[in-house]
Amino acid sequence: MSDMIDELLTGNTKFVSGEFRPNEAYYQAIAAKQRPKVLWIGCSDSRVSEHQMTGSKPGTMFVHRNVANIIAFNDVNISAILEYGVVHLKIEDIIVCGHTRCGGIAAIEDGVHENYIADWLCIATGAKEATNRIAKERKLSREEKLAVLTEENVKLQIKHLRNLALIRNMHAKGLLPRIHGWLYRVETGKVDVLVDGREDAGRGRAKAKTRRKPAKRSR
Ligand SMILES: [Zn+2]
Repeated sequence: MSDMIDELLTGNTKFVSGEFRPNEAYYQAIAAKQRPKVLWIGCSDSRVSEHQMTGSKPGTMFVHRNVANIIAFNDVNISAILEYGVVHLKIEDIIVCGHTRCGGIAAIEDGVHENYIADWLCIATGAKEATNRIAKERKLSREEKLAVLTEENVKLQIKHLRNLALIRNMHAKGLLPRIHGWLYRVETGKVDVLVDGREDAGRGRAKAKTRRKPAKRSR
């Protein structure tokens, strides 16, 4: 017996009658073919629900979530998601989203020793080093330091993303995707924009315009 599982199944019945059926045309359209507009790379944390926080319907985002929203060079999982999302689904925007009160971020700060978690969080070492420098200069409290580390981690993971061959080669040709860095505040539900990818066309908006057309043409 599991009350929680019963609750989930009841929730599904309500979803079918209250959301799916009233929007039948929409759900049949996405049933025929998904056309997500965004690739979301976020934390696995149960409080950070990308579709809910952005008021989006299913079908909007192609999603990858892991502990502390990390982008690893040697992670075949994320590479496959990127390739499918960017090359096949032709997604033009990637959002890397961190969040406050992240257990993974606290573990990076505290230095956990559990095998797999420790190995995984090593990929954020650069963010910890940057944060340590900032914390020393500004004499930050633990809370302030965790806030800086959360932001530095998003920036570092975006750097990793830009360095992956797939993305690097696309950007070298002046192609999309745009890359955005967000912070979700679990205390307020609000999103802060840390890295504004709308300006990503930073190497020139005009260039962004010319490169949008070829990307769309194939649809
Ligand atoms: Zn987290």
